Amino acid sequence: MRLIFHVDMDAFFASVEQRDHPELRGRPVIVGGGKKRGVVAAASYEVRKFGVHSAMPMVRALRKCPDAVVIKPRMSHYAAASKQLMAVLDNYSPLVEPLSLDEAFLDMTGTEKLFGTPLETAAALKRDIFEATDGLTCSVGIAPNKFLAKIASDLDKPDGVTFIRHGTERQTLAPMSIRKIWGVGKKTAKKLESRMLHTIGDIAEADFIKLAGIVGERSARHLKQLARGEDDRPVVADRERKSVGAETTLSEDIRGRQQIEKHLRAQCERVARELRKKNLRAESARVKLRYSRTFRLKTRQGPMPTAADDSRTLFETTRRLLDTLELDEPIRLVGAAAFDLIAEDDTVQLALFDGERKQNAKLEKTLDAIRDKFGDKIGRGSQ
Ligand SMILES: [Mg+2]
Repeated sequence: MRLIFHVDMDAFFASVEQRDHPELRGRPVIVGGGKKRGVVAAASYEVRKFGVHSAMPMVRALRKCPDAVVIKPRMSHYAAASKQLMAVLDNYSPLVEPLSLDEAFLDMTGTEKLFGTPLETAAALKRDIFEATDGLTCSVGIAPNKFLAKIASDLDKPDGVTFIRHGTERQTLAPMSIRKIWGVGKKTAKKLESRMLHTIGDIAEADFIKLAGIVGERSARHLKQLARGEDDRPVVADRERKSVGAETTLSEDIRGRQQIEKHLRAQCERVARELRKKNLRAESARVKLRYSRTFRLKTRQGPMPTAADDSRTLFETTRRLLDTLELDEPIRLVGAAAFDLIAEDDTVQLALFDGERKQNAKLEKTLDAIRDKFGDKIGRGSQ
């Protein structure tokens, strides 16, 4: 049985605006384009009460709620918050599939030993997201598959967690509108409703031949499956967001900056080596520590001074990131990762980068070749 999470930020753009402009908290906020012809990109929960929702023409939205505060989208701020969100999700699963800036699927199968029960995990995840984004909330759906997880995250918004357990799929889905089914657009919905098929339960019970007569055989099979709560699509990790990382779970806890840096340096060397092997350079780096007592994983990330693939730059960047982490608590895992990756081909201009770094890269490439030949015993000595 798989365990899938769907994480969905609450009124994302609007919440970012309310976070950044405290005077907007508790007020009806619409993020969107021009007042005359624009559409609503996001609506705060306060304005949703008036019936305003995203994709609605702005004119109509303002008729429903004349007092709404309209804010022009600030995409770079949403993108930044999105990055923070995805970085947290990466801590919980190697299989994260973003659907948009503010939502993603996670395959959490087999993580119970690491994080606890699904509900405990969801609570920790929400806490980490709240912290990483400086106070944004999300809702989490937990289920045996993607379809149900996505439905679940919507059931207790905002700031909720809903777990659709195996065995309860059909009864949970039965009363819901067919419009909740992925792939059922307005047209199909109207067709089905005109034949007295209003709820997902109706679909589950409908005669297959009748259903196939309305939507065709293939869609009918698909609808029947979803109505039973079945969906075997895998969670597919997004390649573009990929990172190269290395980490070690330590056999004994360590503490203190010196020890942590020793392990961090080793991880950075592994990461840099992997980058060079793949002909990639990274524009950003991440450090992660897992604290033994609370089992919490903490990460910090930041830009590199320049796109690089050498361990010294990586280490200097991640070492600085340690400054904002607690280093005196016992730690059982140290990890480093490089992300915002660019292929070597895109970096011809980087021939201009400064001499020292170039030398580092050259030296390390030579060491790679030696290591590949003679195994991993060769080190580079402490600096
Ligand atoms: Mg959302």
